[in-house]
Amino acid sequence: MTWNEETKKAWATDFSEWHRQQIAWVPHDAARRAQEHAEAVRVAARLARERQEAETRQQAAEALELAAARRAAELGSVDAMRRICESIERTHRITNETRSVMPLGVAAFAEWRQRHIVTPPITSETAFAIRLHEVGHILAGECTNREPHRRNPEVMDWSHCVECERAAWAQALKLVPFSRAMFERLKASLTTYHRRTPAAVGVVAAVRRLSSDTTYAEMVNKRLAQQVRCDQIEEIRQIAEDAQRPRVLRRWERQWQEIQHAAKEAAHDGRSIV
Ligand SMILES: [Zn+2]
Ligand SMILES: [Zn+2]
Repeated sequence: MTWNEETKKAWATDFSEWHRQQIAWVPHDAARRAQEHAEAVRVAARLARERQEAETRQQAAEALELAAARRAAELGSVDAMRRICESIERTHRITNETRSVMPLGVAAFAEWRQRHIVTPPITSETAFAIRLHEVGHILAGECTNREPHRRNPEVMDWSHCVECERAAWAQALKLVPFSRAMFERLKASLTTYHRRTPAAVGVVAAVRRLSSDTTYAEMVNKRLAQQVRCDQIEEIRQIAEDAQRPRVLRRWERQWQEIQHAAKEAAHDGRSIV
């Protein structure tokens, strides 16, 4: 091939065609990329929304299960008490080890830094209170050994501090409504504890206040007030629901109730309804 005007022209044509294609390809590619990016954003947003919805559903299911477990625990189900503890521990990233045999002189113990507790099996409300108390230790945090914390210098193997003990019980009370038996465990534990361990005057006063019957009565009152509010909400909800039903349906229901009432009355005085 020789380099003459013709080949020059042919090269120029080829080059301009290639250049045209490049120009055409660049915006096309950019548009495709933008489309892909928009699609990826849409997919990510949908996945995030689905994840959020699934989490909300799971949280709602767990809350319902916890409420049911609380009612069962109040009726004395030790299985429900165990499930409540497991749920609380999961929420607060605490691990529990159940042991039937404990080191001498302790009913249970907590390891702050490992967020780990060692507790006896839940066989009663007392054991339930003990486990909640150990969870309370983790939630209250590590002993600072600075006022108002005072560790008993005579106890070398364990950290004995009345303020830590008080704070752990205070946390436990926030977790679950305490029954009388559970509160008795709190009282017994705090009373024997502060008899053996030195504490600041303010801490002793706070311990007396926390373990008093007044505290228990206040908690019960608060619970009852909440219960009354829940009942009122349910009543209002039913009225609202009733108002939305078709009027004819309500009339039929009323007539049906009247018929039933009449049947009862008739059965009562030996007549038969016609
Ligand atoms: Zn302490
Ligand atoms: Zn304790």
